Amino acid sequence: MPDFCEVALPVPLDMVFTYRVPAGMTPVVGGRVLVPFRQQRMSGIVTELHDRKPSVATKNVISVLDSAPVLDERLLRLGRWIADYYLAPIGEVFRTMLPLTAEFKRIVGYRLTDQGRMALHLAGMSGSSAGSRRTPEEQASEFRVLDYLAGRNEEPDFDSAMDSAPTLHEGSPSSAESPLVREATLRSATGASRKILEGMVRKKWIVREDLSAAQDAKRSVKIAALVSAEGKLNENQRKIVDTLAVAGRRLPVEALQTLDVPRTTLSTLVKRGLIELEDEPADFTVSRAKPRPILFDFDLNAPQKSALAKLRDAVSARNFSGMLLHGVTGSGKTAVYLAAMRSVLEVGRCAILLVPEIGLTPAVAADLHQIFGDEVAILHSALSDRERAEQWHRIKRGEARIVVGTRSAVFAPVADLALLIVDEEHDSSYKQEETPRYHARDVAVMRAKMSNAAVVLGSATPSLESYFNAKKNKYALIELEDRVEQRPLPEVEIVDMRLEFQETGHEQVISRRLAAEIKERLDGKEQVMVLLNRRGYSPVVLCRTCGKKLECNNCAIALTHHKREHKMICHYCGYAAPVPKACVHCGSEYVYFLGTGSEKLEELLHSMFPQARVARLDRDTVRGHEDFERTLAGLNEGELDILVGTQMIAKGHDIHGVTLVGVVGADTALGLPDFRAAERTFQLLTQVAGRAGRGQSPGKVILQTYFQDHYAVQFAAHHDFIGFYEKELQFRNWMHYPPYSALANVLVRSDNLDDALTWSGKLGKWFDQTRHEGVRVLGPAAAPIVRLKRDYRYHFVLKSPSREKLNTTLRAMLAHATQQKIPRTQVIVDVDAVWLM
Ligand SMILES: [Zn+2]
Ligand SMILES: [Zn+2]
Repeated sequence: MPDFCEVALPVPLDMVFTYRVPAGMTPVVGGRVLVPFRQQRMSGIVTELHDRKPSVATKNVISVLDSAPVLDERLLRLGRWIADYYLAPIGEVFRTMLPLTAEFKRIVGYRLTDQGRMALHLAGMSGSSAGSRRTPEEQASEFRVLDYLAGRNEEPDFDSAMDSAPTLHEGSPSSAESPLVREATLRSATGASRKILEGMVRKKWIVREDLSAAQDAKRSVKIAALVSAEGKLNENQRKIVDTLAVAGRRLPVEALQTLDVPRTTLSTLVKRGLIELEDEPADFTVSRAKPRPILFDFDLNAPQKSALAKLRDAVSARNFSGMLLHGVTGSGKTAVYLAAMRSVLEVGRCAILLVPEIGLTPAVAADLHQIFGDEVAILHSALSDRERAEQWHRIKRGEARIVVGTRSAVFAPVADLALLIVDEEHDSSYKQEETPRYHARDVAVMRAKMSNAAVVLGSATPSLESYFNAKKNKYALIELEDRVEQRPLPEVEIVDMRLEFQETGHEQVISRRLAAEIKERLDGKEQVMVLLNRRGYSPVVLCRTCGKKLECNNCAIALTHHKREHKMICHYCGYAAPVPKACVHCGSEYVYFLGTGSEKLEELLHSMFPQARVARLDRDTVRGHEDFERTLAGLNEGELDILVGTQMIAKGHDIHGVTLVGVVGADTALGLPDFRAAERTFQLLTQVAGRAGRGQSPGKVILQTYFQDHYAVQFAAHHDFIGFYEKELQFRNWMHYPPYSALANVLVRSDNLDDALTWSGKLGKWFDQTRHEGVRVLGPAAAPIVRLKRDYRYHFVLKSPSREKLNTTLRAMLAHATQQKIPRTQVIVDVDAVWLM
């Protein structure tokens, strides 16, 4: 065994770390090891084993977590490519690729030392130590910590994982006598701050120990079993008991935690003997949805068959091939994907289907089970860490060869990858907005290249980049030009809201035209959908006296009024404030609530059409996939007349029944300072229009706009993707934006305004003084959202026709930032940024 290994750790540093391999240990490349790192224990991925003696002292590997690689050679290569392309720390990339946090238990605790015992003794005699610079509060807090640690003779909050973990302080009997108390327990029991504890460690009164270790491989779940429902119960206790009774007297404790009751309620019931807790081996259930009849018959029409044949040919060639499947809304792309995946499964190979975040409803999951049985793994955002790890192992063991999931499913550890499909490839949820800032579509293409697999990007509104690549023959272009069963595309009528204002003398939310159409549909017992891409009740609160808006405390963003919750809420950081009766700036009572969000639109439609049954779909009414599903089911089963919502309603795959779609203010994005605004608006308008029409009835779209001459609005109204694409391409060319340039956004942020200014100034000076051939640098400028989540934000936009030159410049900039002691976490490099806000 080589003496040393290189380990990639999940820390914001662009490097790997060398550790010594103790005799008898056998780490593997691509497997995890537990190592000490700055007073902590961390798990990292071994990237190399070698015998080169490092010049500095090295620490020992604590333990080997995997005897076989969890990242095979190809996935390691893919990770390195991501780190390189997106300038992301390699350890953070590997952490993102491996959803196995549930298998690692963080255990950090404190013990009392002899000095600590002495200090406690002295404090008890004198009351306080004289001449101390500490405040009485700090002294009291320290005393509580010492007292708590001294009084603890048992370790009830530690479980079996502790026993197997080696102790750091073996051979130090004095500290071993005193039990270790977990940090969280100690802090909640004594109220001590982290700073107080650090100070006490420095004084050697207590020691901090990190005993983090791998979880026991045998996974189990805590089950609450109802023993008796007799006796007096309060409201919360009744909730738990009733839930259990309905569920057949047994439920995982985790499931009970979704009830809105305090955690102590369950413990009380356990103490009273009404409920028993049991450990049960985790028996993972893939989906709680009941199976239902197959919706997808593979009865494909001629264009679908021809598309499927191309996919099958590409798969059997066993070489890389990229395809763009451009099919209008309702052309049956999904059926083509599923048929192609089933034929991959039939020859015993593997396929991955990526879908946008909102795409994976329980109904979709049920369909997938119908088609693929137990061989499908479904990875969505609602999975717990444990469930995610379980799915990962099923895939790794080869039990699931079909994987369907959101963004990170692109890293699923399938063995023989034949086909990778990215559905709705233009969707911005494929871009991760935290480190590593990868784009799952582009990673999918790279993974397919490295695996000699076929990749299919599908959309009714492909991104400019993908369509451009197809036109340049980098991808084969497959077109599905017609809706299935020759259903016609809906007719789109534009209502100019400037004219509406002139003619009525009022700012209207629902135009007279749209109101008349809605009434007609309701009279004919037909269904209507209305899109307003802004949630809440009123987006702006303005003072008529001083003219100021009510803004978030943490962000330079107006707070939105949410009427039902009776709160002002920031949509960026979640900050909530009471609804003001007077202006917070000048005290004037003339505060006005302006504009309309989806909550107010729902109310307005209720009052305009009192007989109609109205429901709303947005992030305030949808907490999970089940809520989404329930509302859509209500629509499909005719229990609703009008559905109001944000862009969420444009994404529902299952909406087929409406004959009228009203678009109210979907074009506000056109006013934003973002070069993708037109593209996003076009996509949203096209997608929502695609929801209109039922059977042979074409459906109608009323598109209200203040930008009626804008090309994004016009081309969307005419279902003209090619027209939009060509026009937008001209603009991108003139402005040197993608796809003509590679683009990166460099954001400098700090909660201290001086730091943000100084750092961005330093980087600006460096950009000015060094030559960057072929790279345009714009900035520093205040970011469009200059303050966000307490951080002040300044940015640079870098553009270059050469990706290599762009990355060289970015790398040099990061090196300079390090030299200037600007913290790495405060300079965010976003390659191929999707948002420039
Ligand atoms: Zn005011
Ligand atoms: Zn905020």
